[in-house]
Formats: sequence, structure tokens, C-alpha cells
Amino acid sequence: MNPIGSRRYDAILVGGGHNGLTAAAYLARAGLRVLVLERRAILGGCCVTEEIAPGCRASTTSYIASMLRPEVIRDLRLAHHGLRMVPCEPALQVPFEDGTVLPWWSSSERTAEELRRIAPRDAAAFLATEQRLKRLARYLQPFLLEPPPDLDARGLNGAREKWRLLRRFRGIRGREITDLLAFMTGSLGELLDRDFEHDKTKRLILANSLYGKHGGPYQPGTAFGLLFHLLSGGEHEQQGFFGHVLGGMGAITQALAAAARSHGAELRTAAPVARIVVRDGQAGGVALESGEEIEAATVLSNADPKRTFLGLLEANELPESFRAAIGGIRMAGPCAKVNLVLGEEPRVSGMPADADPLRRSLFTLAPTLEQAERCYDQAKLGELSEQLWVDCVVASNVDDSLAPPGRHILTCFVQYVPYRLREGDWDRQRERLGDLVVRKVGEFAPNVPGAVIARQVLTPLDLERIYGLTEGNIFHGDLSLEQLFFMRPVAGWAQYRTPVRGLYLCGAGAHPGGGVTGAPGYNAAHQLLRDLRRRVFPLPE
Ligand SMILES: Cc1cc2nc3c(=O)[nH]c(=O)nc-3n(C[C@H](O)[C@H](O)[C@H](O)COP(=O)(O)OP(=O)(O)OC[C@H]3O[C@@H](n4cnc5c(N)ncnc54)[C@H](O)[C@@H]3O)c2cc1C
Repeated sequence: MNPIGSRRYDAILVGGGHNGLTAAAYLARAGLRVLVLERRAILGGCCVTEEIAPGCRASTTSYIASMLRPEVIRDLRLAHHGLRMVPCEPALQVPFEDGTVLPWWSSSERTAEELRRIAPRDAAAFLATEQRLKRLARYLQPFLLEPPPDLDARGLNGAREKWRLLRRFRGIRGREITDLLAFMTGSLGELLDRDFEHDKTKRLILANSLYGKHGGPYQPGTAFGLLFHLLSGGEHEQQGFFGHVLGGMGAITQALAAAARSHGAELRTAAPVARIVVRDGQAGGVALESGEEIEAATVLSNADPKRTFLGLLEANELPESFRAAIGGIRMAGPCAKVNLVLGEEPRVSGMPADADPLRRSLFTLAPTLEQAERCYDQAKLGELSEQLWVDCVVASNVDDSLAPPGRHILTCFVQYVPYRLREGDWDRQRERLGDLVVRKVGEFAPNVPGAVIARQVLTPLDLERIYGLTEGNIFHGDLSLEQLFFMRPVAGWAQYRTPVRGLYLCGAGAHPGGGVTGAPGYNAAHQLLRDLRRRVFPLPE
């Protein structure tokens, strides 16, 4: 593609998260002159590996790669740029108070075999539910790497958009339609109570759902999370893929950055953007906090929608109704992360003696459905529950480059915690959260509390301050049905374009949403390239 006008850059990316880097790589590959500006000293957003104690590195925020699009891995030659993933096996496992451990293997039959030992009817129900979900996931999967249908399109375009939507669901009939509606609108809790009998089965399935969700398991729409987790990922497009990334999650963004650079993109860190410059309704570049102004024909924001539209643009540059809709996006946490360096490997009670390091590398302290619901309710009211849900990964069991011999890295993803505390503030409650998490892990791996050498506690407020996530929301906006698909970031603006011509949204706040997928970045870049070819917006001189 030829340069757009006379400016030094064709496209500036505000933010070097994995989606910004993905977009930058595709745009540079298409021949555009691209500049990425990241506010932090490190690229990657919340897909990074950072030192948490001397010589000890951890995936400080995201920690498992599940839905990174295979197309992105292939197109951008991420393996060539150093990306290596090891499939999790089991994908997850839950230890219980009675000293048993229940794994969810990549083989459905093997998982069903585990369930048969505790509840034979659950084994059959598990196989049937997984089959239904896998079939439905295939209808939704193609939507990941294309913009949602444009409901406002008219005439021939309108017909084309409707055809695109219908074509994706071609062949869907009968039970599949009712299943799709049930999963989209029903609650996970009610589904599990209806179809499964044993508490352990329900906790295992809960452990594979609702991460980062603003809602307890009995909230309508929560069953949808199950479908998300059965979309494919990994190099080999495996349904329900979960992968450890060698070198930590930062290896993904390092590979993306290398791909972008190989196509000529410039990447700058410690370069916070203060303002997106708009002239006559058209994005024309950015002003940095340092005062430097950089011109570009187009701007793509990897920052979340609230930060982008309410923080980086003047109020008079956007329609008031749009600003109000953006202001109404539900965010508010509800997650935290506690990263630990240990002097010994966690010894989970009940872990089989012959479990290999891969199996010993993850365990989820999943509450019962009722506890999860109560925990969410407390968080909703601004309280910190003692019954936290903690997802643990012993990354050093899979990757000995993360810590020196004798040191172990345990990362703990925590929910539900409030963004706004009813009493006190996070600066005063941070260590209490750390203590609660370590105590909880100690209930299942008794050697952990005494083995802690270093601890990093990231509250929702820290996620906001350090990683730039408004209200600490890990997905740039909750993944609830009314904030997905053609309603993401807000209804009427799901095509990556914004009310400012030449300004695009390319992060997790856009379709298909959060998680390390690369999909919003891919889609936004392709939308911009299509717009340039069709000359949809007036190009600058
Ligand atoms: C604790 C935690 C655990 C998670 N666990 C997982 C997991 O295991 N698996 C998974 O798939 N997903 C997980 N996620 C979610 C996933 O990491 C995110 O949804 C995804 O990485 C978002 O990517 P992004 O590129 O859209 O945005 P971000 O990663 O948020 O990147 C946005 C970038 O923009 C930068 N920026 C913002 N404002 C400016 C500005 N004014 N100027 C310059 N730069 C700016 C930010 O610094 C940041 O680098 C987790 C997230 C968190 C926080």
C-alpha cells in the first residue's frame, strides 16, 4: 500500500499491548509507515514477563495462552520470532478439601473416566455437554477474525451484512438453536445444577469459566463463558486449547514486536500519549505527555474505550450521546493477581505421587457455586471476601528459565475482588489481600506459606495504575452479552471506526473482546486497510 499523504507516519498506535502490536505488524506488513507509542518502559500491556525479585521472572498479569489466534501466529511468523508454547496437560485441575484432585484433560474421554469414579451420571453429562458446546463454538469461531455485522448498513451493503451473519449460521437447526440461546442467556449455575449432580464436577466446570467476569455463576448470561473456552487456539487450532508460554506471556509480545519491527514499524516505549490530535473532525496525530507532537494520517488506540474517548480526546470532539454510552461501559474490576517467588515447589495435597511437572504446574482453588456467588455479592458491595477463587500456575515447573535453581514461580489469579472498597483503600488493604491469598493456597498446598521468598500483590487499583486498565478491568470492559459483538464497545460503533474520522479502536474494548487473542488488533488493522482501499474517510494532504 502506498503512503497516505505527506506525513511522516501513516498510522500511530497508542499503546503497545499485544493488540496494538498485532495491528502494527499487519499494517507495517501492508506497507504503511507505522509508529507504536507505549506509555510504560516495557512493551506488551498485560501480556508481559517481568522481574518480580532478583533473577526471578513471572507473567505478572495474563498467565495462560488459550485463544491466541492461530492465523496471527502463522501470518506474523511468531514461531520464527521465538514463540514456543507447551499445551497444558491437564488443561486445568481442581484440588478439594478432602485431599482429592480432579483434572480436566485435553482428551474428553480421559476426563470422563476421572468423573466416572465420583459420579457416573456426570461423566455422561460431561461428554454430552462438551459435544454440544464444541458444535456451537464452531459457529461462533469465524466471527473472531471479522468485524461484527454492521446493523446500520443500508442498501447493497446492508444485504451483504445480513448475508454474512446468516451464512455463519448456515445449517444450524433444532436443538442447536435452542442450545445457543440457552447458553447465551442462561446462568452457568442453573445449567450445572440441572445437568450435573456432584459438587466436584460443578466446581471443575466452574474452574473453566467466568474468569474476569463481572457476575456470579447464577447471573443470567454466564453460561456463555463455557462457549468462549471451547473456541480454538494455539498453533494447531485445538478446541479448548490452554498453553504455557516459554519465557512467560511476554514472549508473545516480544515475538509480535519482532514481527512488527521486521516489517519496518517503529516502536517507542516510555512515550505516554496525552492527547489524540483532531482537526476538523479528523485524527491527525498525537501529543505526548512530554509535549512532543507527532503527525500521522490515522491513529489506532490500543487503550481501553474509556481511556481513549474520555481521556485522550476533548469532550467537544465527540457527540455527547457517544460519550455517555462510553461512560456507561461496565468495568469495575473484579480481579487481582498475586505473584510469588517460593523456596520450594508447592506440594498440593492429594496430587498423585507420579504426577509429572506439567501436571504439577497448575491447580485452581475453585469455590462451590454458592461460595462463588457469595464472593461476587460481597465484591459487588465493596467487600473483600475470605472465600476467594484463586487460579494458580507454577510456571517454573514448565520453564526453568524463569527462576534460578531452588526458586519457584507461583502466580495466583484472584477473583472476585472489588475495584472500589467500601471501607479503606487498596493502598492500605493490599497486604491483607496478599495474606488472604497465601493463606488460601496454604489450605491446599500447606508448604506454600512458609516458602514465600518474595511477593507481588496487584490489586485492581494497581492494574489500573501500572497497566493502564481503567477500573482494573482486565478485558477493557466486561464480557457480558450486552457489551459483546455488535454492542462492543457500544452499539453502533462496533466496526473499529469511531466518531472521529481516521481514529480506530484496536484493543480488547473492541470486538471480540479481552483475552490474549490478537483478534481486535487483527480486525482493526484490516478494517483500516479496507477503508484506505475504499477511501472511506477523506485522506489528509
Ligand atoms: C491479571 C490479569 C490476568 C489475565 N489473565 C489472562 C490469561 O491468563 N489469559 C488471557 O488470554 N488473558 C488474560 N488476561 C486478559 C488479557 O491479558 C487482556 O485482555 C489483553 O492482554 C488485553 O490486550 P490489549 O492489547 O487489548 O490491551 P492492553 O494489554 O491493556 O494494552 C494496552 C496498552 O496501551 C497502553 N496505553 C494506555 N494508554 C496509553 C497512552 N495514553 N499512551 C501510550 N500507551 C498507552 C498501556 O500501557 C498498555 O500497554 C489477563 C489480564 C490481567 C490484567
